[in-house]
Amino acid sequence: MDLIKFAIEKFLYPLMEARRGNQVRANLRWLQDSERRPAHELKSLREEKLRRLLLHCVEHVPAYRQYKELVPQIVADPMAALRCFPVLTKEAFRLNPESFIADDADRSALIANNSGGSSGQPVQFFMDRRTVEFYEAARWRGLGWYGITPGSRSLLIWGNPFELDKLAERRYRLTERYLKNRRIIPAYALDPAAMPQHWRLLHRYRPEYLYGYAGALTLFARLLKEQNLPCRVPLKAVVSTSETLHPWQRELLEEVFAAPVVNEYGARDGGIIAYQCPAGGMHLSAENLIAEVADILTGELLPPGERGLLLVTDLNNFSQPRLRYQLGDEVIAGEHPCSCGRVMRLLEETCGREDDIFLTTGGRFVHGVAFANCIKRLPEVEAFQIVQLAPAEAKVLPVTRGGQEPPGLDGVKADYQALLPGTRISYQLVDKIPPSASGKIRYAVRQFPLPHD
Ligand SMILES: [Zn+2]
Repeated sequence: MDLIKFAIEKFLYPLMEARRGNQVRANLRWLQDSERRPAHELKSLREEKLRRLLLHCVEHVPAYRQYKELVPQIVADPMAALRCFPVLTKEAFRLNPESFIADDADRSALIANNSGGSSGQPVQFFMDRRTVEFYEAARWRGLGWYGITPGSRSLLIWGNPFELDKLAERRYRLTERYLKNRRIIPAYALDPAAMPQHWRLLHRYRPEYLYGYAGALTLFARLLKEQNLPCRVPLKAVVSTSETLHPWQRELLEEVFAAPVVNEYGARDGGIIAYQCPAGGMHLSAENLIAEVADILTGELLPPGERGLLLVTDLNNFSQPRLRYQLGDEVIAGEHPCSCGRVMRLLEETCGREDDIFLTTGGRFVHGVAFANCIKRLPEVEAFQIVQLAPAEAKVLPVTRGGQEPPGLDGVKADYQALLPGTRISYQLVDKIPPSASGKIRYAVRQFPLPHD
């Protein structure tokens, strides 16, 4: 029996509720109930939440006060009224974040967070406890579909959150272990020599599930496989988050861990956006947000089935609301309901960060995944990164087995040149791809804004 799980679920959560008014479990029960209600009930619930949010925005949020004349429309049809508000890009938000803070927000209770912008500069934003507790509840709902509960033991393959001094690090580890029931293998520590130690931790600790960035989980799986270290722990799920989970990564994870591989689509500035159900559908957190899909160039809204940029309106954040916020991800909205019977709409495909889209000198877009598909042909390439510094300049950093240039690289070079005609592409073999500050290992990075930014 897992005593820490028992203590978290029987004592810690009830205590947090009694002492701090924590609403995660109440929200979770509410979400678990709403996912099985008839579709029209979910629709009217969302409309009501959106109506309240929009009325609050035009009344209390300086950036949105100019839209006060929309009040009759907001009252009559909030979904239609939402489309009268402008799309909010990260760049536009960054110009004056203060103007998005509601004048009635409790400033002492604001929770600061930040995320990387498409030009690499972080965007700082604020949330409140209510928003965070809904994010957490949405994650636990998704994990609950696999029999995982808030106290379930987990092993994270994760970037170090920040530079910690010794005392802070000790405290952090104790919090992780006893209050969250999880252990962390830092993504930067995934070097081959340390794998036997990580493997022993996995089997001694016996987590119910693994959780991490797609790239880090895949690297973990690949190293286990290469070193003949089989996973004998029966896992309820391997949960991949934040980064695009490619089919080849999913296959490898399924093979190595013999468990369901679950895609969690979340963003620091968007919360839990969608969660994959056991039937394979990526269900939007429909009670928490309104999702729209817009054409990457014209900004016009697209019907389901067409690929475009995701716009998110968080229905819970009344402290610093961002309406129709362009996260920078490309998605396709699903056309059909899921076979599992849950009413939340589906995303057919999440295509990764907008940063992963490259621009040719002729003005055409090329998705980063095209580069990954070419280089996958070379088994000697263990990892790689392509960085487009400017439309006319890119560099490719492959990590190869033995540090030798693989025989087929010339063919890949030709393909890359065809994808980016007119771009000077340089190649440099490297030992490893350093994770970004957040711990993500990114394979395709564009370092300049697209024309519409
Ligand atoms: Zn489903």
